[in-house]
Amino acid sequence: MRILVAEDDPISRRVLTSMLGKWGFEVIETSDGLGAHAILSRDDTPRLAILDWMMPGIDGLEVTRRLRRHDRQDYVYVILLTARDRQEDIVAGLEAGADDYVVKPFDAGELKVRLRAAQRIVTLQTELLAARDSLHYQATRDALTGLWNRRAILELLGDELQRAARDGHPVAVIMGDLDYFKGINDSHGHAAGDEVLRQAAVRMSGVLRPYDRLGRYGGEEFLVVLPGCRDADALQLGERIRDAVAAEPVGWEGLSLPFTVSLGIAATERAGDLDAEALVRRADAALYRAKRTGRNRVACAAASV
Ligand SMILES: [Mg+2]
Repeated sequence: MRILVAEDDPISRRVLTSMLGKWGFEVIETSDGLGAHAILSRDDTPRLAILDWMMPGIDGLEVTRRLRRHDRQDYVYVILLTARDRQEDIVAGLEAGADDYVVKPFDAGELKVRLRAAQRIVTLQTELLAARDSLHYQATRDALTGLWNRRAILELLGDELQRAARDGHPVAVIMGDLDYFKGINDSHGHAAGDEVLRQAAVRMSGVLRPYDRLGRYGGEEFLVVLPGCRDADALQLGERIRDAVAAEPVGWEGLSLPFTVSLGIAATERAGDLDAEALVRRADAALYRAKRTGRNRVACAAASV
């Protein structure tokens, strides 16, 4: 684990550094408070810091205060190193946001066990963050395809409409529905159907722009959110999606399963249009028309396109 040592006294710093090195830490050293502040402001800051209280520039207390003001994701565990051991000094140190303190001259054994406690806390916090990220992923993603789930894609559409209203940009959506999907499930089983859905997701993602959003809206339904697109742009993208999906059959357990998608398009009609539901409904109506007029095609809600 990496650890920051900020100590202005060269002898004390050398002793600390060599001790920490022996205990397996990767030490980053600095001799003043501003240096410590700079290192702790970096994205890849060490998660453990031993800060001397008295240092030129800004003292260890102030370094700690600045660190805590900065609302950062990864917690940095701070041990203050101090010659002061009066009760009120210790309270001031902890109030500034330090997690622990060691009084100089320090005892190596004591420092070692305190560092072990610090490591436990840093490790725990890392695990908590990872668990939170994983929960967030599960709550927003469709487990089969890895695409946004219905709730998440509708939220993204809502956000996009807000942004577009502010900036005066249009937004288009495409509703896609795989053709005769029930037939694939009925003839070859749900595992085959799942493979077709996964492939559809991969092929659709492959033709989208980096800032487009693709979600699994329902069983075999997909919703694409296209920022900055009018009907005509969305129509082009819709055709590319249709082509990509129909390009070749999916191979599954020796079978070759051809599949296609029908798509309905709708774009915001006026600046400030915030009605996500109405937009999706219009795309859905266009999709219905694409189905009715033969499937494997793209239809647009606007009559003029
Ligand atoms: Mg000092």
